[in-house]
Amino acid sequence: MRIDMVSEHASPLAALGGADAGGQNVHVAELANGLARRGHQVVVHTRRDSADLPDTVRVSPGVTVEHVPAGPPQAIPKDDLLPYMTEFGDHLAVRWRTQRPDVVHAHFWMSGVAARRGIAGLDVPMLQTFHALGRVKRRHQGHKDTSPPQRERIEAELARNADFVVATCSDEVVELTEMGVAPEHTAVVPCGIDLTKFVPTGTVADRTERPRILSIGRLVERKGVDTTIAALAGVADAELVIAGGPERSTWDADPEIARLRFVAEQAGVAERVHFAGQLAHSDAPAMYRSADVVVSAPWYEPFGTVPLEAMACGVAPVVTAVGGHLDTVIDGETGLLVPPRDSHTLASRLRTLLARPRWRCDLGRAGVGHVRARYGWDRLVRETESVYRRALEHSGASVAASTGGRP
Ligand code: UDP
Repeated sequence: MRIDMVSEHASPLAALGGADAGGQNVHVAELANGLARRGHQVVVHTRRDSADLPDTVRVSPGVTVEHVPAGPPQAIPKDDLLPYMTEFGDHLAVRWRTQRPDVVHAHFWMSGVAARRGIAGLDVPMLQTFHALGRVKRRHQGHKDTSPPQRERIEAELARNADFVVATCSDEVVELTEMGVAPEHTAVVPCGIDLTKFVPTGTVADRTERPRILSIGRLVERKGVDTTIAALAGVADAELVIAGGPERSTWDADPEIARLRFVAEQAGVAERVHFAGQLAHSDAPAMYRSADVVVSAPWYEPFGTVPLEAMACGVAPVVTAVGGHLDTVIDGETGLLVPPRDSHTLASRLRTLLARPRWRCDLGRAGVGHVRARYGWDRLVRETESVYRRALEHSGASVAASTGGRP
């Protein structure tokens, strides 16, 4: 198949850890590479956010990234990109008129807006993965939600019109059903883990003698890093390493870093909190292995790759009982679930876990088995491919002509 993905803000080539670059970038990159390994041709269309970028980058045999001109060629927060989706969609329409994809897979709602425009008049099935839903974001962030006001309405339309909505967790399917999406048009395919890199043995990042609690992720308020910092006050001796965040040179001007530093000072733990900055994704396994426990405490989480990466590296995660975590972490078996925004319970679970190395080991071992059995990309790529085939059948587009005898 020729599979065209649209990922307007999340390029598979971007550095991770900035405000808008996290799990979606990894997801798109791994899915594209995995599909290419199975013989498909994949093109990822992402917005040109720098004038220096070439039009096309050949990432690997079978995967090409195309930088689409849509708005000024500079970094723009993802919530401000909607006005440029018309230009993005028109570009896709021209592109797809000459090179018709067999399947289009849009990642994030704004990509759906552009893809719908690009696909108009073509008999090509469209799949949508939201990565996050506006209605959930609004519920948790209230007036702090910077999404365009049309988001929820447009998302519902996209969801109802897609041949398939590929959700990343079962909690999302509940939301989609409430949005009026027929269950037979949804499929759950979780995000995966690179099982060759996220393994328990290998290099270990430098560490001190102190028990290490690790947080990895974008530094945005909803990730609940402040809850983890506050919990540290109840976990004597431990240090908290916080990886992720904006470029180090911008820290002094960054409001979220300032807020987190303030929380650490107020809690009297500033001396035990270390901001490690943006971590190259290739360095993440060594960082996980250096930790005694990994914490991920978001208010809500559409999927949550970090707990799976921790488990794959044999480190027990303590995570909030929300969204994708409810599918991925088996409470008491591969990690621990705690309520969101509750630093006291988090501190108590961390104290117990840090005091019981044997239990940590057991959880770590079970986590490795769990991730390897269910979350390898090869398996998830095959599952995604089978949803594409169902979408092709459902749309009536010619499967035989599409595949041309290839995979
Ligand atoms: N990540 C990274 N370096 C950083 C921060 C994050 O490599 O400095 C990676 C992390 O390893 C994970 C992804 O970014 O693969 C974050 O994904 P998750 O689903 O946990 O959160 P999201 O950013 O999608 O909300």
